[in-house]
Amino acid sequence: MIAVKGYAAPNAKAPLAPFTFSRRTVGKKDVRIEILYCGVCHSDIHQVRDEWGGSIYPMVPGHEIVGRISHVGEAVKNFTVGDLAGVGCFVDSCRTCPSCRAGNEQYCEQGMAGTYNSYEMDKKTPTYGGYSNCIVVDESYVLHVSERLPLQAVAPLLCAGITTYSPLRHWKVGAGQKVGIVGLGGLGHMAVKLAASFGAEVTVLSSSASKEADAKRLGAHHFVNTSDEKAASRMRNQFDFILDTVSANHDLNHYLGMLKVDSTMVLVGAPPDAVPVEAFSLIPKRKTLAGSMIGGIRETQEMLDYCASNNIVSDIELIRIKDIEQAYGRMIRGDVRYRFVIDMATL
Ligand code: NAP
Ligand code: ZN
Repeated sequence: MIAVKGYAAPNAKAPLAPFTFSRRTVGKKDVRIEILYCGVCHSDIHQVRDEWGGSIYPMVPGHEIVGRISHVGEAVKNFTVGDLAGVGCFVDSCRTCPSCRAGNEQYCEQGMAGTYNSYEMDKKTPTYGGYSNCIVVDESYVLHVSERLPLQAVAPLLCAGITTYSPLRHWKVGAGQKVGIVGLGGLGHMAVKLAASFGAEVTVLSSSASKEADAKRLGAHHFVNTSDEKAASRMRNQFDFILDTVSANHDLNHYLGMLKVDSTMVLVGAPPDAVPVEAFSLIPKRKTLAGSMIGGIRETQEMLDYCASNNIVSDIELIRIKDIEQAYGRMIRGDVRYRFVIDMATL
């Protein structure tokens, strides 16, 4: 076993604190990555505080992992020692079900092995995430990371990047379409950059008036302050596609009213509580309400390569690991510009 240093939540109420644990030794097909940076996703907060239920403690969060490979198993084909590498939201899956075979491992019928707050495919060995100094993962679940981009700003692509890239590609968002992005946080700001780079006309729908200049700088063409009811009501019947990234409970019907005929709103934000959807928010214009979860390994690599060729990274604020609780507090207040990333050298 390998001795690992990290930060863990002991339970849903206590703050994160230093934690030592062990990982498996490097197996034939495994690589060991020395973690350099790890992004802070709002899903970390939901799970640390057990807002979705079923959390497993102690919990070492973190699924936006980048680092350098220090060891490779004897059967590893695609990585060598010294390579940059990334790990996203899962570290294994059954590999045989239709979803896995289609490259959609995130929808594995046996349940993917999440990077943390989950179990390996044996369903009994807990997984621990990226708020730690190293991780051991089967190479099939590891991504290649370009040397061309600033590494700390690449980390958030492993979750915020792929979670927004995948639905934008699946619903073929591009030139000639009007797209609304609800919530300008970690996911939202990546959605703006990606949708704009695909050629769409992008409107940010934000509850924070102070983010307008940033929205435009990130590539949005328009900005609507959703707290201003008059401005929001002018958005009725405007959009071909809406991506909702909001982490807190909010009224979906309000945004469904902004869709045109035959258009789609996709939820990627995962608020803790169920929200009522009125039948007449969907029926009159044959609208679709859908969801989407991260992306498969192949598509994540495609997204990383696309971002490397198009110079797309996250706008980040680098933090020390001991400031993690403060960062969580700021994210809950919507005060993140636009992703906190932990410098693992501060562990
Ligand atoms: P984040 O950085 O904290 O951003 C969330 C944004 O939502 C905030 O910046 C804010 O934007 C808006 N918001 C927050 N509270 C609000 C409220 N009460 N009313 C209206 N808007 C509010 O979070 P994130 O990391 O981007 O994650 C967003 C959500 O996506 C989380 O629920 C997370 O768990 C989920 N997620 C899902 C997947 C997936 O696979 N589907 C993957 C990763 C994350 P404004 O200030 O602009 O309003
Ligand atoms: Zn995430």
